[in-house]
Amino acid sequence: MNDSKSVPDRVADHLRRIPRSGIRDFFELVSQRSDIISLSIGEPDFVTPWTVREAAIFALDRGATSYTPNMGLLKLRRAIGGYVDRSFGLRYDPETEILITVGVSEALDLAIRAVVNPGDEVLYHEPCYVSYRPLIAMAHGVPVTVATSRENGFRLTREMLEAQTTSRTRVLLLNFPTNPTGAAMTPTEVAEIGAFARDHDLLVISDEIYSELTYDGERGSIAACPGLRERTIFLHGFSKAWAMTGFRVGYAAAPPELTEAMMKIHQYTMLCAPRLSQEAAIEALQSDRDTGIMRDEYRRRRNYIVSALNDIGLACHQPSGAFYVFPCIENTGLSSQEFAMRLLEEEDVACVPGNAFGASGEGFLRCSYATDFDQIKIAMDRMRNFVVRLLA
Ligand code: PLP
Repeated sequence: MNDSKSVPDRVADHLRRIPRSGIRDFFELVSQRSDIISLSIGEPDFVTPWTVREAAIFALDRGATSYTPNMGLLKLRRAIGGYVDRSFGLRYDPETEILITVGVSEALDLAIRAVVNPGDEVLYHEPCYVSYRPLIAMAHGVPVTVATSRENGFRLTREMLEAQTTSRTRVLLLNFPTNPTGAAMTPTEVAEIGAFARDHDLLVISDEIYSELTYDGERGSIAACPGLRERTIFLHGFSKAWAMTGFRVGYAAAPPELTEAMMKIHQYTMLCAPRLSQEAAIEALQSDRDTGIMRDEYRRRRNYIVSALNDIGLACHQPSGAFYVFPCIENTGLSSQEFAMRLLEEEDVACVPGNAFGASGEGFLRCSYATDFDQIKIAMDRMRNFVVRLLA
């Protein structure tokens, strides 16, 4: 008798329950086309600053190709400690409280796995970055979403969080400025959410990967709120503000016990982040000036694309950060998926369907403005033609 399992049955049960990313098929389609304008990419169109590339080349040239300590190069951890202090008013000990990771992607996985016990509820706001729900599920936690809406600019309030909090809530996962909505928080809102986390004794994981890309005023980390540093894992990296996506380098900063817990997973799964990328990241922190140039250009594009979309008849709130706009396409009568597919087929413009970022993203489209200004203009003209035809 042959009672051996079929190949699909060998995949772990919890993994089989996790669907593959909703945008994967769409991206595969887009990648087969070279003749399109893509507003679908979540990475800067700027090339990594020359001095940063040069630092990687020099490191290679002098044969700096070995492993680094598991925690990362101490020189980089020190540079990050200085940067986080200057930019966010947060002090972390580079020896015990800063861990270098393979992008914020790894840092998110480490943070969640380090603090979530099976059955713990993790609160997060939606629409959100595609990896949050699967990472929580892979850690055997329970994802609990708090849906944000266009009517209030995709903001998160204490009231909304309270409504989803139970006795099993352990972790609050935040991302401001937000991918895909571009929503950011004012200092008052940060303080309000901070008080909520304190009152419910929650651990906070704060993904601040877009924090340099805020356009309308102050930025501040929730970790800087009174009583929050000890219960927050602060995540940041070099992909967005320094245009270093392919270098794969990020970091987590947290009290020593939490850092040590993340380090254990990192040490056994990743060993260390790539050495050349760490060398380049040291240089990135010494060339702050480039983030300002990028920010100004993104602000110009944001202002243009928001007014163009509203003009076309696709209601679009003005995001305060990141490099995405999230217009509403409900009035066209199409679903997000149908709108994105037809826009691609009929006008050669690629945008990501909003439902890829969770159920509350249905009825929206994510357009990235990390694309050349002239290309954005052409894309908006084509989008106008498409919508005019639809509504005729
Ligand atoms: N967090 C958010 C909100 C993102 O948008 C992204 C990438 O798009 C990441 C994390 C992953 O970034 P990294 O390239 O540092 O892994």
